[in-house]
Amino acid sequence: MCEEGREAREDCGSREEWTLLFWTSLAVVVPVIITLWCSAQRHKRKTHMKEFFRKSKHGWHYTDLFNKPTYCCVCSQHILHGAFCDCCGVCADEQCLRRADRSLPCKEIMAPARPHDGAAEHRWVRGNVPLASYCAVCKQQCGTQPKLCDCRCVWCQTTVHDDCMGSLADADVCDLGEFHSLIIPPHYLYRVNKLRRRQPDDFTKLGASCGGSWTPVLVLANTRSGNNMGEALLGEFRTLLNPVQVFDLSQLTPSKALQLCTLLPPGSVRVLVCGGDGTVGWVLDAIDSMKLKGQDQFIPRVTILPLGTGNDLSNTLGWGAGYAGEIPVEQVLRNVLDAEVVRMDRWKVQVASKGSYFRKPKVLTMNNYFSVGPDALMALNFHAHREKTPSFFSSRIINKAVYFLYGTKDCLVQESSVHPSFLPSFLPWGWQPKQGDPDFPLPSHLGQLLRGNPKAFP
Ligand SMILES: [Zn+2]
Ligand SMILES: [Zn+2]
Ligand SMILES: [Zn+2]
Ligand SMILES: [Zn+2]
Repeated sequence: MCEEGREAREDCGSREEWTLLFWTSLAVVVPVIITLWCSAQRHKRKTHMKEFFRKSKHGWHYTDLFNKPTYCCVCSQHILHGAFCDCCGVCADEQCLRRADRSLPCKEIMAPARPHDGAAEHRWVRGNVPLASYCAVCKQQCGTQPKLCDCRCVWCQTTVHDDCMGSLADADVCDLGEFHSLIIPPHYLYRVNKLRRRQPDDFTKLGASCGGSWTPVLVLANTRSGNNMGEALLGEFRTLLNPVQVFDLSQLTPSKALQLCTLLPPGSVRVLVCGGDGTVGWVLDAIDSMKLKGQDQFIPRVTILPLGTGNDLSNTLGWGAGYAGEIPVEQVLRNVLDAEVVRMDRWKVQVASKGSYFRKPKVLTMNNYFSVGPDALMALNFHAHREKTPSFFSSRIINKAVYFLYGTKDCLVQESSVHPSFLPSFLPWGWQPKQGDPDFPLPSHLGQLLRGNPKAFP
């Protein structure tokens, strides 16, 4: 009797244990399955959306959280997440996205001017006007009401209250605003497209209709440089300029982007390179190749927005040692407008193998420095790893730390394979240094190398 009771109790205990195990497993497995299912759905949705964005005429970008109060341009509801077009500023939630894409046109990169007077009309987009913008009619602040209200012209950035729109004079035409001398107007490209023979003189004549001081700017940004700010900056430039003049160098090479210069008046174009020394060198090489194609007259002037990890060339030319959003993009464009043109020395470096007479020497172009040995190896290693895992190199500080790590490793583990007598020939002054010469301004980093290599002095 007693035995039976104990067995029944043991049975009951093991059943309870199994039940507990079952519910515990269920409590763990079910949330995992739900999370995996949600993430698969999210991935599927994102893939669909990417495909939709690729085909759209708008420059859509998806965000999980807007950084300011935003209203859907279709249903007028307040939205926290959704898509926005960085060209025209239209915003929409996921449900309204397709309707917004169909019914709201984007900024037209090429369009005819008004037939009777050759002027352009404003292109208004309603709602989500920039913070602290003022009405062109009553001079009061716009976008202060918590709803989809007030309008902004996508070209001249003029903002007007809904109520003041009726009072806007009929004669008020779009003059492209403050940056009219940097913007390529849609009517210019329309007329270039209609030209039968495209001669440089024709571009100059057409350019005269865009104003005497017209110096269009092309923006070329490397989205992988330094702080990975390129992407956001490209969006801001597309908002202020014609989207056709803004290029992402991860999608298009500088040589292809610079071909737009050959459709603009010769000698008028400026190029704003957003990136570090490597990106600027890449663009300067592409400009060199324009010379080889016989396009000398279209060569642009180059300005720099220093986004890279190394920005020595930018610093030398007065564009600063690094940009992290300290000044607004509008101020960057003002600086481009005010910039003075200076000529810069560039150097050809010929690399020949000793004793190999049949191999053609390699000719390289050097912009502000040329380096061989450990620091060049360090830069090459850094570049190779950034190409492999770009997401890891998303901050200038991390990049500098990685540089430091490679530098330490390369200096400790490997020796420079450069022959000591090779070094002085890279010095940009063009004369042979003599040991102990007080007039010889030896750069500190070369000084270290040369001091370590006494044979380097002839
Ligand atoms: Zn909506
Ligand atoms: Zn758009
Ligand atoms: Zn306008
Ligand atoms: Zn007003």
